[in-house]
Amino acid sequence: MIRFSTTDTALHASIDAIAPTWRTRAQNRTAALANGTRTNITKMWSEIKKVYMDLQGPKCAFCEKWIEDQAIEQDVEHFRPKNRISRWRVPRKLRGEGITVSQPAIGTEDGYRLLAYHPFNYVTACKSCNSILKRDYFPIEGTRDSGNDNPRALGGERAFLIYPLGDLDDDPEQLIEFHGLSPQPRRPGFDRKRALVTIEIFKLDDPRTRKELLKDRAEFIEKLYFALKIRDDATSDAIDKGNATSAVARLTSTRSRYTNCLRCYERLWATNRAEARAIYKNIASFLRTTSP
Ligand SMILES: [Zn+2]
Repeated sequence: MIRFSTTDTALHASIDAIAPTWRTRAQNRTAALANGTRTNITKMWSEIKKVYMDLQGPKCAFCEKWIEDQAIEQDVEHFRPKNRISRWRVPRKLRGEGITVSQPAIGTEDGYRLLAYHPFNYVTACKSCNSILKRDYFPIEGTRDSGNDNPRALGGERAFLIYPLGDLDDDPEQLIEFHGLSPQPRRPGFDRKRALVTIEIFKLDDPRTRKELLKDRAEFIEKLYFALKIRDDATSDAIDKGNATSAVARLTSTRSRYTNCLRCYERLWATNRAEARAIYKNIASFLRTTSP
């Protein structure tokens, strides 16, 4: 995960540019939901899907996979679920981490209906992350405040999942770092728990559930490895060096796939070349075993 930088003003301007009446209609619908004169939630977020596609690459907000067929796969996802919140159990492998989730003993909770039309409750996500893995989960450590209409006022919930758009939440790259292919927590304490829960819910390191994701990520590390090798090889000619420098910049930019992972690999290359080479060797053998 990485942060996709934007501001309230910039996001609103992008929405107004493609759907001039959208924000007014959204505010009216939210007001009607708040005072009980309207009960159904109308699916009008698809009208502004392009805003989020453009802001995000288009790549998935959570796994950074490229979203190839946007019409089929990419959807606008509600970060905080609008209808209901399902109980999320801490899996066995995280039981020793002291993760406590606030939720009812059984059943589901009401969703964040007043955030159904909030521009900062949206992201675009791939089908695996959104429909298959995240579903209606939104685990928190604090007190649920699902009647609130302002995502900036929900810090007291102590949400485990990380919101990557704008400055509403911590920068995901400060919470999750990669060691080779493997995402890991970067900081201790609650930040560590947030990273672990995010990695677990989206299965960001699970070679069975996300085989294609891990393979794709490995292929991008391989591209970066060869670009770094050519860039820093004293025997490369000037043209190759120039092209390799451009490739490194492109692969570690916000618009690339797997930016967080590739930036971590580039840092490792700069600080510990031997370890970076050892990691690449493992990735090369992983690719040999997963490719036909
Ligand atoms: Zn995804």
